[in-house]
Order: sequence, then C-alpha cells, then structure tokens
Amino acid sequence: MRPVVFVGAGPGAADLITLRGARALETADVVLHDALTDPALRKMAPRARWIDVGKRGFCDSTGQTRINALLVEHARAGRAVVRLKGGDPSVFGRLEEELDALAAAGIGAEVVPGVTAAIAAAAATLRPLTRRGRGRSVALTTAMTREGDVRAARTADTEVFYMAGRQLAALARRLAAAGWPADTPTLVVSRAGWPDQIASDHHVATLALASLLHSGRPTVVTVGAGATAVTSVKPALPQGAREGAFAARP
Ligand code: SAH
Repeated sequence: MRPVVFVGAGPGAADLITLRGARALETADVVLHDALTDPALRKMAPRARWIDVGKRGFCDSTGQTRINALLVEHARAGRAVVRLKGGDPSVFGRLEEELDALAAAGIGAEVVPGVTAAIAAAAATLRPLTRRGRGRSVALTTAMTREGDVRAARTADTEVFYMAGRQLAALARRLAAAGWPADTPTLVVSRAGWPDQIASDHHVATLALASLLHSGRPTVVTVGAGATAVTSVKPALPQGAREGAFAARP
C-alpha cells in the first residue's frame, strides 16, 4: 500500500502550493479535498477522482469518521491518495485524527507542508510576524473551543487567531480580559492570498468594527507586535484585486 500524502494547498491562489505538493497531485488517483482549496488546483491532478469532503456534514465528528474511512478504503485499494488541505495540514487541520486512522490500518503517511493563513496574512500586508527585539514569539491560536466558546490569551508577543471571524466582538472582550491593552495593534485579514483579500487595521478596543467588512469570509486576526505596519507604503494588491482592498480603520 502506498502512503497517503497530505498536501497543504496554501491559503488561496493555486500557485501558492509547493512544487512537491503539485507533483503529488500530478500522480494522484484520488484527491480528497477541503472546501477552502482553489478549484484551479484541479488542473494539477488531471487523472484523479476528486472527492469534496469539506462540505457541511463532513465537519462534525461523524464526518471525520467518514473521511478517515475513505482514506483507508482508497489506500487499501492500492490507489495513490492525496489528502489536500487548505493552508498547512498541521495547523488546525484535523491531521492527528487522520494520521491515527491510517496508523491503525497499517497505512503509511507523508505530509507536504503548505502556507498557513497566518503567514499568508503577514505576506499580504507586509507585516513580518517576528520583529527584532519586540516580536520574539508567535502563537497560532484557535479562538473557538470545541464547545463553541471564544477564548483568547496573551502567551506570545504576536498572537494570530484562527476561526474568529464570526465572533470578533467576543474576541475583543476576551483579549482585553487577557491583559492586552486597549490600544494594541490588531490586524484583520480575510481571504488572504486571494485576489479579493481584505485587510483592515484596528485596535483591541475597536476590533468589533471589523465584523461587517469581513463577514462570511475566512479570517485571521493578528494581535500585537506583528500587527504593526512597517512603513506607510501600501502593499501591492494581488492580481485582479480591487482598489481599496486594504481598508484602514484605526
Ligand atoms: N490549515 C489551515 C487552517 C484551517 S482552520 C491553515 O493552515 O491555514 C480554518 C481557519 O483558517 C479559518 O476559520 C480562518 O481563520 C483561517 N483561514 C483559512 N484560509 C484563510 C485565508 N485565506 N485568509 C484568512 N484566514 C484563513
């Protein structure tokens, strides 16, 4: 049995996948993919059967069990299986469950990294995640607990919150409670790496104002040292992006 190859697709545009990931797609028989990945990636796996496991119904724990079963079934049938995940497979991607299922079935695995949303947001806005002297640590944090509560902490100089898009007002309150000063720079980026990406500047106290602008879009919130602008030069817009995509809302 061939090992299942987990490939990070990156945050958006198909050309952000790694060459190694693209090569795995080229030779795949079956691609099990998430909802977030760019349909243009399909051209990279011309002979594969594409199975969308990112839709509703696959998100809960029953869905995860079905994904695990599909991985095992196709690998056992001797097919070259790629599990394509948005961003990086190792970041909030349920990789542990899927690796466990393969190990239990005696099937090997390989992981090809991808550009995670935090990194894509930093690139899109020209805001380095680490800064000499004052930005020495970065935490990638999910804002949502398994029970659907919003949580925030202050464990690093820069914290990047995933899965907070719908709960920005609650996140702002939790950030204040965790000790972040009200005027801490806070950057919100949605659909980072896509032509229609939007970025906006806020402070912890005004974060709730970002809700409308980013509503319904995959969003990361960067708080602290890594959220501050380096220069007053505006980042170049991605190809096809509309003017004004970088909205400044202090
Ligand atoms: N494995 C992915 C994360 C999956 S969890 C990665 O490494 O990026 C899904 C969350 O990721 C979303 O709720 C959102 O917070 C974030 N996300 C994914 N794609 C994004 C994008 N293009 N722009 C901003 N945030 C994104």
